[in-house]
Amino acid sequence: MLEIFYPRLFISSLPELDLKHLLKLGLKGILLDLDNTIIMRGTESCSPEIIDWLNELQGCGFKLCIISNNKSARVKMLAGELKVPAVYYAFKPFKRAFYQALGLVKTAPEETAIIGDQIFTDILGGNRLGLFTILVVPLNGKEHWLTRLINRRAEKALMAYWRKKQF
Ligand SMILES: [Mg+2]
Repeated sequence: MLEIFYPRLFISSLPELDLKHLLKLGLKGILLDLDNTIIMRGTESCSPEIIDWLNELQGCGFKLCIISNNKSARVKMLAGELKVPAVYYAFKPFKRAFYQALGLVKTAPEETAIIGDQIFTDILGGNRLGLFTILVVPLNGKEHWLTRLINRRAEKALMAYWRKKQF
């Protein structure tokens, strides 16, 4: 039952992702979490490395969409700069915003990946819809207090459990 929380892939940074492998798997769309995945939470722009990486993704033909639990002004501003469509106030892991994002990239769930830094929002939500889920080590931005207080502690416990079970 805990498999619903388990990412299909675990990477330490975005540029590490093997895009050819994703293409081979038949993936065509990629949903991207915003804060601490492609931009440090609390900062106003993506690093040049991440911008290059996003261009590379698009160059490979992937359709992108940002899916963020953050508020509209921040998400719209950043998405506008990156020229990537976005869903904000997403309430991940609830499904509604995932369906909205799938509508924007126009790919089926099994052709779509989600990349995010949180198990209980990005990975759980993605797994519920049958997306290809990719967990990335968070960028070093300051975190929402609820994330710190609840999600990160629970993630640690879950990861310790997986290690024990040698998942
Ligand atoms: Mg995040």
